[in-house]
Parts: sequence; C-alpha cells; structure tokens
Amino acid sequence: MAIKYIDQLDLKGKKVLIRVDYNVPYDKEMNITDDTRITATLPTIRHCLDAGAVVILISHLGRPKGKVVDKMSLKPVAVRLSEVTGKTVKFIDSPIGDGAKEAAASLQPGDIALLENIRFYPEEEKNDEAFGKKLSELGDVYINDAFATAHRGHASNEAITRYAKENAAGFLLKNEIEYFKKALFEPERPLIAVIGGAKVSTKIDALQNILYRVDALLIGGGMAFTFLKAKGYSVGNSLLEEDLIDSAKEILGNAKDKGVQIILPVDIVASTAFDNDAETRIVPADQIPDNMMGLDIGPETIQQFNSVISTAKTVVWNGPMGAFEMPAFSKGTFDIAQGIADSPCLSIIGGGDSVTAINQSGLADRITYISTGGGAFLELLEGKKLPGIVSLDK
Ligand code: AMP
Repeated sequence: MAIKYIDQLDLKGKKVLIRVDYNVPYDKEMNITDDTRITATLPTIRHCLDAGAVVILISHLGRPKGKVVDKMSLKPVAVRLSEVTGKTVKFIDSPIGDGAKEAAASLQPGDIALLENIRFYPEEEKNDEAFGKKLSELGDVYINDAFATAHRGHASNEAITRYAKENAAGFLLKNEIEYFKKALFEPERPLIAVIGGAKVSTKIDALQNILYRVDALLIGGGMAFTFLKAKGYSVGNSLLEEDLIDSAKEILGNAKDKGVQIILPVDIVASTAFDNDAETRIVPADQIPDNMMGLDIGPETIQQFNSVISTAKTVVWNGPMGAFEMPAFSKGTFDIAQGIADSPCLSIIGGGDSVTAINQSGLADRITYISTGGGAFLELLEGKKLPGIVSLDK
C-alpha cells in the first residue's frame, strides 16, 4: 500500500485534523485512571506544533450510541491533555455546524483543540458521507493516529478521507504498521507466535492465517483444551468448544503438512472451581480429572514454551496463558511474559489482556513493541485489511 506518513507532509501553517483514540478508562468520579492513550499521541501532536501547524483532535469515548451521554464527554480528556502538553487545549463541544467551523478557523499555529465525543453523533458509526465531509472541512490535512479503532470503518476514519485534501498516518499508526510488517511479513526467523485467551472461536481465523507465516505456534489459555480434546485427551470441566474440535484437528493437520510446529501444554494447573481459593493440582495434560478444570499452564509447559521462545528471533504474543486475573492461575502468563522479555528476539505484544499482563509484570520496557489495538491487532493477525488504514491509501 502507498500510505503517506505524517513526516512526509509539509504542515506549516496548516490545520491538521488528527483522529486519535482517547477512549481512556475512568472511574465513577470521571477521573482518568490511565492516560497511556493520551501520551501515546504526543509525538504526533508535538511534530505538528513544531512544524507550525494547528492541531484539531477527533476522538470517541465509550459507546454512547449516537446520543449525548454526559459521563462520556471528552472534557476531562481536554484537561488532562492540557496538563501533559503544557498548553491550554480548547474544547469544541459541537464538532458539526458553523460554530465548529468558526472555532476551528480562529485557531492559531501552535493551538490545540479537541472536539467533543464524535460518537455522540449517530452519523459517525454509520460512516455517513456528509458527516465525513463536514468534519474534513474543519482542517486542511487529515492524519489518522488511532490504531485501536482502525478496524472500524467510521466517518472520522473512513468517509473523512474521501474529502480531506491530504491523508496520512501519524507516528503511532506508523509504528503499528511498521512493527507488524517486521514481525509477520519480513520476520527474522525463527518466528514464534504465542496465542492464548479464552476461546478458539474468537481466534480461529488468526490461528489459520498465521499458521502459514510462523515457524512454531505455542497455544495456551482456555483455547488449548479444544486442541487437547482434538488429540483425544479428556479435558474434564475445562473450557471446551465442542463445535470447533474438527477445526482444531484441521489446524493440527495443516501444521503437520506445512512442517510448522504446534506446541500444546504438556501439564496443566487444574482446579475444582473457577475460583482463586479452590483446590488445585498440577496434572499431565492428558490426565485432567473429570471434576476439575484447567486454568493455567503447568511448570513443565512454561519451561518448554520459554525454551522455544529463547531461541526465537521474532515473537508475537496475543492472549493470556490462563485465567491470570486470579493470582492462583497467573504464573503461566507472567512467566511467559518474563521469557519473552528475556529472549533477545524482536517481540510484539497485542490484545487487551496480554498487554495488561505485561504492564502488571513491570516488563513493558523490555518488549520491542506493545500494540495499542485489541480488536484491530487481532484483525491484522487474521490477515484482514483494516478500513482505517486502507482509507489512507489514496
Ligand atoms: P481473550 O479475550 O480471548 O484473549 O481471553 C482472555 C480471557 O481468557 C481472560 O479473561 C482469561 O481469564 C481467560 N482465560 C485464559 N485461560 C483460561 C482458562 N484456562 N480457563 C478459563 N478462562 C481462561
């Protein structure tokens, strides 16, 4: 694809509309509890300001479903953005209409403005043509820096690009594209994928797609039990998707034909209940008792997985190895995080829970790249083209 990046544009004196993802978590008092998504956009914002441009930011927050929902206002985000940039961020509370045009027109180079939650308008999620056009008229140049929403084709990342005079990716989106390319398309080999999480059903397309790119696939988490069942093991009360046993068999068969190693758990932390305080036992993967469920990978599996990871040149990780939210079942996930951090490989982690785990483990700065996208990252793994990226290719 022939996508332009922000550093290829002349931005001097221009009004730069930037689609960001400020869908930040906040508590009941509307205090932002994690501003990573805000600080992640600072390189793009600073680049525009240094180039003598005006910055106008577009974002959504939560799922207001096309209606004004006061507690989903982006006002608190404007306040936090003012703190982290050291500049008073102007807030445009009605992004569509003459008021917004006038407000945008009055901005001077070096100013930053944030539009109110774009999902207060039903046209946004409908990818409404006229709405995208109106948004585009607030600026001269359009930059998309919102990877986490790139798998949605909405007015502020799709329709808008048909009317903006110039379209480009910001630094955050550029990093996502470049690192993903490095990992899956031009990897230094061996390339190892570590895939976990609850269900096979949500990751089956990703598994099928990456199977043809990786040298080995390590499968943990709840989804491993459907694969173990496909091998003929009994899995007790563990998570199992009966209807996907055949698909799991097919994946195992395809891997064999391709000479790709699929490595499944050899031992399991089994528990009598989905409860941190329930009785647990480490059992071989083919001997899970009928009245127990597997909630984490066992010590021998951790050792095997980490031994493969230590020889990798590239590692992609998505999905936890167990029900890691409960300390009794978190060791597998955290030890694999440690293994990836210790490996001299290029490492890429994506998906909400694996990113949470890596942040909790304090190892984030030892990972080459942590993706800001959950659903978007998974869709890239599935081999899909993301509307928010494709639309920049003009
Ligand atoms: P996903 O969103 O598909 O990546 O799944 C993440 C969720 O999978 C987390 O909330 C984990 O608690 C859950 N999970 C991982 N392993 C297991 C397991 N063995 N049994 C039940 N849930 C699991």
